[in-house]
Order: sequence, then structure tokens, then C-alpha cells
Amino acid sequence: MAGRAASRQGTLVALRAIVGEAGWVGDPEAIAAHTLDWRRRWRGPALAVVKPASTAEVAEVVAVCAKAGVPVVPQAGNTSLVGGAVPRAGEPSVVLSVSRLRSIRRIDPIDGTMVVEAGCVLADVQREARAAGWLLPLALAAEGTAEIGGLLSTNAGGVHVLRYGTARQLTLGLEVVLPDGRIWDGLRLLRKDNTGYDLKQLFIGAEGTLGIVTAAALQLSPGLRDRRVLWLGVRDPHAALGVLAQARHELGEALVAFELISRVALELVLAHVPGSSDPLPAPASWYVLLEAATSAAAPWLGNAVERLLETAARAGLLCDAVVASTSEQETALWRLRESIPEAEVREGPSIKHDIAVPVSRVPALVAQGAALLEAAWPGGRVVAFGHLGDGNLHFNLSCPGADPVALRAAEPRLNALIFDLVGRLEGTISAEHGIGQLRREELAARRSPLELELMRRIKQALDPAGIMNPGKVL
Ligand code: ZN
Repeated sequence: MAGRAASRQGTLVALRAIVGEAGWVGDPEAIAAHTLDWRRRWRGPALAVVKPASTAEVAEVVAVCAKAGVPVVPQAGNTSLVGGAVPRAGEPSVVLSVSRLRSIRRIDPIDGTMVVEAGCVLADVQREARAAGWLLPLALAAEGTAEIGGLLSTNAGGVHVLRYGTARQLTLGLEVVLPDGRIWDGLRLLRKDNTGYDLKQLFIGAEGTLGIVTAAALQLSPGLRDRRVLWLGVRDPHAALGVLAQARHELGEALVAFELISRVALELVLAHVPGSSDPLPAPASWYVLLEAATSAAAPWLGNAVERLLETAARAGLLCDAVVASTSEQETALWRLRESIPEAEVREGPSIKHDIAVPVSRVPALVAQGAALLEAAWPGGRVVAFGHLGDGNLHFNLSCPGADPVALRAAEPRLNALIFDLVGRLEGTISAEHGIGQLRREELAARRSPLELELMRRIKQALDPAGIMNPGKVL
């Protein structure tokens, strides 16, 4: 035992020498912030929290940990909703924060590409892209905190997936520190590259279990010029799908976001978020937040929006509608949508699901899912909202006043109800939040043995010692 403690002490001394005082987190409060997840649900012990300042330092830290057989937990903005970025309980680990890898290595205005390091905050990267006349179309509520390394490691989605795809589609190349401490330089800037297996895709969405993303080459899109933001009241998700079909027809590629919001979700925002107000004079059961935008000047956009509203009204799909006429109004409409998670927290305990089904099956998912959950937990209310344009809904059961312990105990049973339904509708139990610790057992129970075997063999091939973010995903 004494020998092991001494060698552990030696490992910590070696780590401290690599990152220096600036990269060594010693204050207990600061350490606690890195070992507790954003939802305050998972906490695990840290042997050390280190913040390397360069890819080379990341590699040295990982090499030392690999040699000592010490688990490494990569962490970026620590905004995971599934406990993916903190140590597992009972498993003392080295938390490796990439937050000091902050440089934007290059922007190429002709290629429309950008190479950024893993600790860059998404909002900063968006701003830099904009300043160069381009758009990084990854957009989500946590963009002021979430960092590139975590966004890619979880294949982040957000509100523009309908038009631009997920983080996967926006990534041209990666630089990764492998679990043995070697650096893989895959920072290519190519749109086309058919030279064997597409290795970068293995690391995107792997939640840091196969290596640590230290930098990424990103594909930019032309900046947006003309835009319209609409808030539509509709009877039900089926009517919202009708509007979606018409919007695709009338707006074409200009359709960039199509979000569905239940009245229940809006009411939580109106009750808990100061300064929010109902955009429409009379309540509707459901709402659509639609954004249309173009990169070329589009004098036709206003007319196309008018036509959409007319055809949708004529087809009986709309209860009411408002088109934002100033950028302040646009921001206010988006704020209603983006404040829902915060309002849910203020309302009280809830159980969260991040699910997706083929777009056409969303109405069935909503109707059957709400009936199942609300019958299984009397007093609970389903708060449904999300990205109707790509079939991904946040489908949460809000249980104000519930005993949190009893609710936690009922969670597996409630999850099974909704995940069985998702399975029948040929959907997925995690659309954009990932697996982390939260969905690990459910993934194992719901993927085919062959798929699980392939995943385990990939993990085994890249991380045979199992030191990289153990206890997550698999
Ligand atoms: Zn979302």
C-alpha cells in the first residue's frame, strides 16, 4: 500500500511539473467545481485537476497517467447533461480541463475554414467567424459556456441542425491526444478526402472515451444577411408538421430553424423568467418558432413568409402568428425558447428525455408519450419542446412538489415507458445529449449485441487499458 501511495504521489508531482502552477488547480472549491456536473447530479473524486496550456502538455499528462494506470476524465465547459465530464463515483481520476487551449489557430477566408482549440467557448468562435464574414452555424442555449472540445465530443446539435447538420457535419479535421499520449494530427481542411476510414468521426460523439480532442478544423458557411423570425400558434404537433411541409416549399433553403414549443413549456417561462411575455394575444396549445435566413440578399423573403402565413392559415393550420419586426423582437422570441430549461429548473424536480424519432412520427410520440408519463406519475406534466425540423424533442416530465428521492427511484420505470415507445417509433433514446453516465445501462439494454460488440472492440483497440473517461458510454 505504501508503495502504491508513493507512486501515486510521484505521478502527481510529475503532472504538476508538466502543467506548472498556472495549470495546477489546488484550491478545494475550484476542484469541487470540476468534479460536480452541471446538473449537480454526479460527483466523483479527483486525484488532481490539471489545465494544460498546449496540446503537447495534454499529451505529456496523458502519457504519465497511462504509465501509472490512472484514469483521465477530459473536461471542456462542463455543461454535459448526462454526467459525461466528471469522474465516476468511487473512481479517483485526473480531471484534464482543456479550458486553457484557447487559441484560434487560423481562419481562412477563401477556404471558409477555421482551426480552433478545444477550450474555445462557442460564442467566441462564432464571433470570430462573423468578424471574418462567415458563420459557424452551431447554435445552442449553452453557447456562452460550452467549449469546442466538448461540443465535438458530444456531437452537439442545437437549433440549426435542420439546415446545417450536427457538429459532425461541420468538422473537417481533428487533432486528438490518444489514450497512450501520442498526438494524432488529423487537422485536414478538405471537403473531400476518401483515403480509408474516416477516423475523425470515431472521436466525434465518443464523449472523450477514445481520446481527447485538442483542436478542430471547422467548416464555415456564408454569413446570414436577411432574416425573419416567426412565432406561430398551432392546434397540435400535427398542424405544426403541416406548417413545416409548407415552409419547406415556400422558403426552401432559407428555412434554418423550426422549433416546437408546448403551451405548458411557454407557461413555465412566463411564470419564472422575468421580462418574458406571451407574443400572442390568445393562448394556443402549441407554438412554432420559425427562422428563415439567407446569405445572399433576398428581397423575396418577406413575400415568401407572407405566402407561407396565407397558405397555412387557409389550410386551417394556424391559430395566430406574429413576425418579429425588429432585431430586439427576434431576440425576445428566441429568448422564450432558450429560457425553457432554466424555467424548468425553477419549477421543481423533473425527469429529462432527449429523444428523436423520424419527423413524421413526432405527433404520435407526443400524444402517446404524454399519456404514458402523466398516467404513471399523477400530478406530473409533460414539458415538450425542441427541434421539430429534425425530429428531436426534449420530452421532460415536470413534477413540482414531488419528493426528489421518490422521483429518482421511479425514474427507470418512467424511462422504460418512454424508451419503449421511442423504440416502437424507430427513434433514439439520446439525440443530442449523449450517453455519459445517465444512459449507459439503457444503451446497453437497447442496442443490438452486435452493435455493442463493435463499439467495445473500437474502445479496446484505441484504449486497451481503459483509462480514458471510464464508466461513460459503454
Ligand atoms: Zn436541444
